Amino acid sequence: MSLSQKAESIASEFVLSDDDVRKCSKQFIFELGEGLKHVVPTVCQIPTYVTKVARGTEKGVSLAVDLGGTNLRVCSVELKGDTKWTAKHAKRVIPPETMTGSNGAELFHLIAHEIDQFFQLHHRDTLQKLRQSKDVLPLGFTFSYPAYQTSINSGILLRWTKGFDIPDVINKDVCQLLQVAIDDFNLPVEVTALVNDALGALMFRAYTLPLSQTRTSVGAIFGTGTNGVYLEKLSNITKALGTHDDSTGEMFISSEWGSFDNGLLVQPNTKYDMKVDQSSINPGNQMFEKRVSGMFQGELLRVALNELYADPDACLFRGVQWDDPAQGEGPAPFFTRWAIDTSLLSIAAAENAQELTALSEALVKTLRIPANHVSADDVRAVKTIADAIGKRAARLAGMAIGSALIKGGRITVDRNILPVTRVTEDFSGVEAVDIAVDGSVVELYPGFERYMREVWRVIDGIGPAGEKMIKMGVAKDGSSIGAAIIALIVANGR
Ligand code: ADP
Repeated sequence: MSLSQKAESIASEFVLSDDDVRKCSKQFIFELGEGLKHVVPTVCQIPTYVTKVARGTEKGVSLAVDLGGTNLRVCSVELKGDTKWTAKHAKRVIPPETMTGSNGAELFHLIAHEIDQFFQLHHRDTLQKLRQSKDVLPLGFTFSYPAYQTSINSGILLRWTKGFDIPDVINKDVCQLLQVAIDDFNLPVEVTALVNDALGALMFRAYTLPLSQTRTSVGAIFGTGTNGVYLEKLSNITKALGTHDDSTGEMFISSEWGSFDNGLLVQPNTKYDMKVDQSSINPGNQMFEKRVSGMFQGELLRVALNELYADPDACLFRGVQWDDPAQGEGPAPFFTRWAIDTSLLSIAAAENAQELTALSEALVKTLRIPANHVSADDVRAVKTIADAIGKRAARLAGMAIGSALIKGGRITVDRNILPVTRVTEDFSGVEAVDIAVDGSVVELYPGFERYMREVWRVIDGIGPAGEKMIKMGVAKDGSSIGAAIIALIVANGR
């Protein structure tokens, strides 16, 4: 077999057929339902206690704090009430020693200190006025780690992800910890909502769209990790719920689909997937995420290419001198975990198979190999496998979003689109179902939306007619503003 045939053979292992998609979707919908009934080890389905979609008419000022895996962001938002808004932002890198070597008190002191600095820099007058009037500003806390909520402004941290390891915060209410730290700074701020980034992105998009156009009911993140939220009927949520607003009959549910580990959902399970999983810090967990998110796709490509390289007949990268001790650069990136970033898959997908100049240059740079050691056949083989991994990720992403749409009753098997007016009379005239997405993978991978749409067309319950009704937009960096919007809605609703 030639190199290209061998690459095609590896690529074929990543194929998720239309039939697979349909089976996966049925299972996905089933699991979403199970997670609403009881706590299922492989499914989270965390109630968010957010029961209303922004309308674009909200008015007022609120704050948000976003504790990301790398950055801590603070922002203030003024909603004008006509889908328009203004915002001020501040950002700082979270010191690595805070992420792993500190304790909860230090982490939350750092966050409150950042809010204090933000007031000094941007809202000194507001701070004074609030103190005089004894008023408070609502704050939305964007916290995209698995936290079990029992109300809109409380969340018990189940476990850290994305590089954090501060054991004394686990099993504690992160909103309360933040409020205590804020009070220590004597700031007129009340943590009114705990929000994950997918819901934040959704709310931001919902606020900015004219109400007459559409209504956003699914939000999804495809960045370092992946997650999706969708609007569910309260009557379907039969596991214990804390005090909540039931005026709309609905609530957003955070599926935490990255951790869906049921074997049926993680097909195809290639030997490259198994290798990546085995060498991860959490083997057997986050299996869906390990196929779909930005953190893992580049690594999957590296592992698959290593396999191809190990086959003497394939002749991948023939003649490359790896590990040249004279260069003193340690093990070659090709053999080093995480050396290939998922952005390389986007470069591969963007290129015409005949040219491949950019991919060739990116390989030379990423793998630190001399340009004349990379043949056209090598680059074509890399593209073949990279495209297969990227396509599978996008199809699984489409399957997840499509399943959430169906589970939420936005689209049905019998009648392609339910009149969304069924949910609340306020939304009469809505003609499309709308999805907000965010994250570099969905934003930057060429063809990600096209692949998702292909999947929606074949999923039972959506089909070609349903697919045409689905609108999707990137709510770029919208999660903080979305959290501030939620905080304001909650405060105004009291
Ligand atoms: P975060 O998830 O931390 O908020 P991003 O949405 O930027 O941040 O996602 C970062 C992830 O996106 C990383 O795993 C990275 O590998 C991946 N990524 C960055 N650029 C691209 C790109 N051009 N195409 C596909 N994936 C990308």
